[in-house]
Amino acid sequence: MPAKRSTANPLSEKIGTVRRRISLAAIRGGRNPGDIKLIAITKTVDIEQVKEAWDAGLRMFGENRVQEAQKKIAESRKWNAGSKMQWHLVGSLQKNKAKYAVQLFDLIHSLDSSALAEELNKQAGKIGKIQEVLVEIKLSPEKTKHGIPPKELIEILKTVQHNMENLRIRGLMTIPPFFEDPEKIRPYFRELRELRDKAQAEGFILPELSMGMSHDFEIAIEEGATMVRIGTALFGERISRL
Ligand SMILES: *Cc1c(COP(=O)(O)O)cnc(C)c1O
Repeated sequence: MPAKRSTANPLSEKIGTVRRRISLAAIRGGRNPGDIKLIAITKTVDIEQVKEAWDAGLRMFGENRVQEAQKKIAESRKWNAGSKMQWHLVGSLQKNKAKYAVQLFDLIHSLDSSALAEELNKQAGKIGKIQEVLVEIKLSPEKTKHGIPPKELIEILKTVQHNMENLRIRGLMTIPPFFEDPEKIRPYFRELRELRDKAQAEGFILPELSMGMSHDFEIAIEEGATMVRIGTALFGERISRL
């Protein structure tokens, strides 16, 4: 008998595959699969596919540009009003867009300077919001453009905790350099986790580690990721931009 596959939704199959891979990686790492959040990265993906992903059960979405996100979020509000859909900003944020970012995003993964923190704090205050953020850490100076050097983490944690009442730092994020062999990326994920552990030992509460993309998310999970940011493995190859 022919299988029912032909009528299946390929996106929901991909979601199922990614979820299984997440669970297996969690188990290998001695972790609870339920502790890992799948953030579907929808940059360049059209709104119909976002809707399909929503219908298939995904609830957390990520974009890397404010302008593109703005349109999609407005569209998505038509069918998810009052529901639990979350939008995250994973790309770098310019200060002059902070005002829009606080209106749009449940979580900003890319806090990469104290100047940006100040601006986000100010803009969040204006709309009466506590903005949740992750600190983006630059682990390889030569290869990634954005993020704070590890040695400056404690300082920014203190500054935000003492002076910025509208910002809440929930954890750390990193974009490691690319290697064809994802095993070579493992030390970067481990470094982020160790950095987090050190900050926690100093009394800061940082439950989230946003690390791992389509190419390397299983290794990130083995090393402690709580949020994986996945585009290609769900929606296919993008035409060009990162
Ligand atoms: C595009 C992007 C992703 C997703 O990358 P894939 O390789 O398509 O899974 C994750 N994080 C950030 C910051 C991105 O810009």
